[in-house]
Amino acid sequence: MRIVIVAGFGGIAAAIELQGHGFTDVTLLERAPGLGGTWFHNTYPGAACDVPSHLYSFSYAQRRDWDRLCSSQADILAYLERVAHDHGVDSRVLSGVEVEACEWGQDAGAWSVRAAGGRTWTADAVIIATGQLHRQAFPRIPGREDFAGVAFHSSEWDHGYDLRGKRVAVVGTGASAVQFVPEIAPEVAELTVFQRTPNWFLPRKNRAYPNLLKQIVLRVPGVQAARRRYMFEYTETLTRLIRNPRTLGRIGAWRAAAFMRSQLRDPEVRRKAWPDYTFGCKRILFSSWFLPALQRENVELVTEPIAAITERGVRTEDGREREADCLIWSTGFRTNDFMFPMEVTGREGRSLREAWRDGAHAHLGMTIPGFPSLFVMYGPNTNTSGGSIILYLEQQAAYIRQALALVRDARAAAIEVRPEVEAASDRELQGEFEGTAWTDCDSWYRNEDGRIVANWPLYMRDYIARTRELDPAEFELVAAPAEVSTV
Ligand code: NAP
Repeated sequence: MRIVIVAGFGGIAAAIELQGHGFTDVTLLERAPGLGGTWFHNTYPGAACDVPSHLYSFSYAQRRDWDRLCSSQADILAYLERVAHDHGVDSRVLSGVEVEACEWGQDAGAWSVRAAGGRTWTADAVIIATGQLHRQAFPRIPGREDFAGVAFHSSEWDHGYDLRGKRVAVVGTGASAVQFVPEIAPEVAELTVFQRTPNWFLPRKNRAYPNLLKQIVLRVPGVQAARRRYMFEYTETLTRLIRNPRTLGRIGAWRAAAFMRSQLRDPEVRRKAWPDYTFGCKRILFSSWFLPALQRENVELVTEPIAAITERGVRTEDGREREADCLIWSTGFRTNDFMFPMEVTGREGRSLREAWRDGAHAHLGMTIPGFPSLFVMYGPNTNTSGGSIILYLEQQAAYIRQALALVRDARAAAIEVRPEVEAASDRELQGEFEGTAWTDCDSWYRNEDGRIVANWPLYMRDYIARTRELDPAEFELVAAPAEVSTV
C-alpha cells in the first residue's frame, strides 16, 4: 500500500499519477472532512488564487471555460474535486484522519502510519503532501486569550459571524488579507488594519472575462494552450526580476511604484503603505483593490507595532487602544514546520525533526537520506514566488512514481537518496540564492537562522528539467527484508 498524507493538489496529483501507472493500492489520509487542502480550508471572502487558472491547473486537465483570469476558491475547489473524481481517486480519500506519526520499521521494510485515535496502516511508501501553508501562525503578542470579542484566523473564517456594522481589526497584510480586506471593508462599520511590513503591489482587477474572450478561448483551438504558454513565460519573468534585483528588478520596482503611486492618493496612507525593501524579497501582491480599500473613510491603516491584545481590542506601543468587536488574524502559516507536529521517524530511529534541526532540506524538495521511500511534496525549497505550484506538484508526482517503479521492478523494499547527493544538491541550491532579492529581507521563506527553506531559487523550467527523469545513480535500493544485501 502507498499512503498519501492529505488530499490537496499535491496529494491528488500523486494519487492520479500512481494510479495511472499501475499502482492501484493508493490511500489518501485527509484530516479535513473533504479533499481540497488549502482550497478546502481557506474560504475567506474574496479567496482566490492570484496565479492565472490556465497555469494554476493540471496540464492533463485543462479547462477552457474559466470565467476569469484568477479563479475563486469555490471554482478551484470544484475543479480539484472534479479532476479527482474523473480520475477515480476521490474514492481513495479517507477523510477525518489526522496522521500523527510515521515510523520506518527496519524489520518489516515498511512504514507504520498512525493516526489520531490509534488507527494504523502499513505502507511500502509514504508521500507527505501537507505542503508549507497549513498550520496557522499567530504572533507572540501578549493577551491574545483576553480578547472578549469574536476572533478567528483568516484560514478558518467564521462564516456564522455577521461582520456587517461591526468594528473589525485585522492583523496582517499578506496575500490573504489583501484579498478579503476590500471585500469586507464596505460592510463593516470600522476596519482597522494593522500592518507590520508594507508590500509591493502589481495591478490585478480580475474581472469576469467579457463574453467574446470567453467564447474565443472556448471555441478556437490552440488559444487556451497559447494563453497557458504565455502565462508560463510571464511568471518566469517575475522570477527573473527577483533573481536580478540590481538590474531587471529595478524595472519591476519602477512598474510597481508607478502603479502604487496612482492608487495611493492619500499622502498619509501612501507613506505608511510604501515598502522600503527590495522588490520581490517578500511575496509580490497582485491587487487593484487593496490600496484603494485602505483609503476608505471607515478604514484605518495602523503601522505602530502592536503591544498587546486587550479585552476590548488592540493596544499599540504608543499606548493607544483601538476597540474591536471582531479580531481577524491574517498572520499566515508556520511555513518552516512543513509536516510537523507529525512525528516522522526513519532508519535507526532517526527523527526528521533532528535531521532538519538546522532547517529543512531534501533532494529536489522530495527525498531525505535515512528516510526510505518517504517523499515530500511541496517540500523544502519548492515554493515559487513567480510561477504555479501545480507545475511543481505534477513534476513531483511523476518523479515519485519513477522512484516507486524502480523499487517495484527490482523487487526491493524501498528507495533512498544517497546522502552525498542530497548534501550536494542542497549546497548548490542554497548557493543559487546569492545576489537574489530573496536574501534582502526577512520573510516566511526563511527560518530563524536566515536560511531560505521555502523557495526554489531558480526558474520553473529548471525544476521541470531537473525532475523530468530520476537518476537511479542518485539512489540506493533497500533490499526486501528476507534478502541479505542491498540490491
Ligand atoms: P503571510 O503572507 O505570511 O502574511 C502574514 C501577515 O501577518 C504579514 O503581513 C505579516 O507581517 C503579518 N504579521 C505577522 N505578525 C505580525 C504582528 N505581530 N503584527 C502585525 N502583523 C503581523 O500570510 P497569508 O496572507 O495568509 O499568505 C500566506 C501565503 O499563502 C502567501 O504568501 C501565499 O504564498 C499564499 N497565498 C496565496 C494566495 C494566492 O492568491 N495565490 C492567496 C493567499 C495566500 P510581516 O510581513 O512583517 O511578516
